[in-house]
Amino acid sequence: EKSCDKHNISRDDVIVGRILGEGFFGEVHEGVYKSPTGDRIRVAIKTCKDCSADVKEKFLSEAELMKNLEHPHIVCLIGVIEVDPVWIVMELYEHGELGNYLVEQQYILTSTTLILYCLQICKALAYLEGLNMVHRDIAVRNVLVASPECVKLGDFGLSRYVDEQEYYKASISRLPIKWMAPESINFRRFTTASDVWMFGVCVWEIFSMAQQPFFWLENGQVINQLESGVRLPKPQPCPPTIYSLLNHCWAYEPNARPSFCQLVCSLSEIHRAEVEQEHG
Ligand code: ATP
Repeated sequence: EKSCDKHNISRDDVIVGRILGEGFFGEVHEGVYKSPTGDRIRVAIKTCKDCSADVKEKFLSEAELMKNLEHPHIVCLIGVIEVDPVWIVMELYEHGELGNYLVEQQYILTSTTLILYCLQICKALAYLEGLNMVHRDIAVRNVLVASPECVKLGDFGLSRYVDEQEYYKASISRLPIKWMAPESINFRRFTTASDVWMFGVCVWEIFSMAQQPFFWLENGQVINQLESGVRLPKPQPCPPTIYSLLNHCWAYEPNARPSFCQLVCSLSEIHRAEVEQEHG
């Protein structure tokens, strides 16, 4: 397959630097990649400490999905080294996770910038919606900050392709309950509509400067609250127009939620109005 060739890179072209963080499968390092054209690109290198065949396959499945994705607001895969020790090499986003960034920059970030981040994540998800792909783990911990004006959706570890009308039935472990739609919690049903619910929770996180959704509840209490109609409250800096969109995203009935395509339109409009207001 052509796309595989493009992504099969040589270890000799990668220089490994300091540790950036700990991933699910192993350490993530900073590094530099020398491209075939001679450019030096700063990269993040994901490693896998357990090299047994089945773990390795799970580790590489994220990269397999990412090979087919190209979008300005989705993390960019540079390449994969498939011989031991296996590495996934991605473009480096030096400002790190959006969750941490929101906490560090909370007194500097304007409402316009926060709306811009929501719009960019929404555009990435509209792109996935067009590919019939569900992400399943939309949260500020899975968004990286490329520059103060540009965020990238990442972490496709839980993503799956779904056929129309179909859904992915997930295993029960490692599920982010407080971000999940009621049908995902009850029946482990994941669709684009459940991604829309999660996107709503992610927008709530953005305007709450990365507080945990439902931090006042135990995981086990969340579904009862949702079923009795309780929803996350409006974060103080969240514009009412956006909070109204969130409540549409949190419709109990999946079919009643907007599509990402519709959300992009609404958020673009809200962002445009905010920019105009800012410039007087
Ligand atoms: P988990 O499943 O627990 O989220 P993971 O295996 O998906 O883990 P990541 O969260 O993607 O691993 O990566 C671990 C850390 O490495 C992150 O906290 C992040 O700070 C850093 N990191 C990962 N990818 C990049 C990147 N492209 N640019 C900059 N930092 C990155």
